[in-house]
Amino acid sequence: MSDPSTSPARPGEGTRAVHAGLPEPSPDAPPMPGPVLTAHYHLPGDPADAAYTYGRDGNPTWTALETAVAALESPDEPAEATVFASGMAAISAVLLSHVRPGGTVVLPNDGYNLLNPLSERLTELGATVRAVPTGTARQREAIEGADLVWLETPANPGLDVCDIRVLADTAHREGALVAVDNTLATPLGQRPLELGADFSVASGTKALSGHGDVLLGYVVCRDAALTESVRRWRKLVGAIPGPMEAWLAHRSLATLHLRTERQQRNALVLAEELRGWPEVRDVRYPGLPDDPAHELAARQMRGFGCVLSFTLPDRAFAERLLAATRVVEEATSFGGVRSTAERRGRWGGDDVPEGFVRMSVGVEDAADLVADLRQARAAAAAAARAG
Ligand SMILES: *Cc1c(COP(=O)(O)O)cnc(C)c1O
Repeated sequence: MSDPSTSPARPGEGTRAVHAGLPEPSPDAPPMPGPVLTAHYHLPGDPADAAYTYGRDGNPTWTALETAVAALESPDEPAEATVFASGMAAISAVLLSHVRPGGTVVLPNDGYNLLNPLSERLTELGATVRAVPTGTARQREAIEGADLVWLETPANPGLDVCDIRVLADTAHREGALVAVDNTLATPLGQRPLELGADFSVASGTKALSGHGDVLLGYVVCRDAALTESVRRWRKLVGAIPGPMEAWLAHRSLATLHLRTERQQRNALVLAEELRGWPEVRDVRYPGLPDDPAHELAARQMRGFGCVLSFTLPDRAFAERLLAATRVVEEATSFGGVRSTAERRGRWGGDDVPEGFVRMSVGVEDAADLVADLRQARAAAAAAARAG
């Protein structure tokens, strides 16, 4: 038992999430300053001496969020975060600022669906793209001679997991940089920089902000030159978040540990429920003890996330089931407080069966979610029988 009279070397994750990036308490000041809405700053004299000059280059509301995100992604070593207008802005900043004509980049072929069109763009720019499945021997083999290795783990929507440490070591021996899309896990669930990655990149639109009301992205690096490269890209393309969005995301961080704890608990309950249904196959959730990804996930993750996937017999069954849910809403995106699900095949960008459903589990009561899925299943089965 720890002695409560002595403070621990580092506060717990919840305490750090609550206080991350906030100013020291001072009389008459708000505990969390409001969003700074400005396009420019009073700027006498030499701009080199100024902390803030112009709104595209910096904003105190971003700085507070960047401090918070960096503290959560890299609690033990200094790191810097750069916030972006969206996850795609963050991903593009890393890929487009580092991939050169003649260079080679390794991408997952089962990752976020915009990686495919982005890889076409990289090819047009003269780079070689090797697209490989997450967590396979091919992924490791593809690293030979590469300049940049992109990992997404767990991969979305298939939920396969790869070993960040092993792949980062392999990549670094080849002189390649390593970026990890940490969207699904969040910094509380996984810390890619500690596992050897050079960039931890994420969409803050999902679990990080968690309320489905903000688009945001970030990149975190320990190497100052790498931070400089993505900051420069952000300035050149102007992919900056609004102060209000940055503020909302920062405010939401205080409940990240509560939300993810509850969401993960609910996700496990639903994964276990769904695998008991005869019409469901291939339930995937890294938190299921016999999931193919579980052993590795348990080693490198601190939580298993709120996303699960499963396959229904066909498109019609999946559509009927999703139309019949009342608590679970049919929507894309994930990580929010409200449970959502969708048939991924409707977008055409993922290599998944027609009956494949991705579900994001929210913070509702687990019993209500189970009851909702059961009544939707009965409705879908009745409709199927009626033809
Ligand atoms: C949603 C998502 C993105 C893109 O983020 P946006 O904020 O929507 O631009 C990137 N990677 C993963 C894994 C995502 O889920």
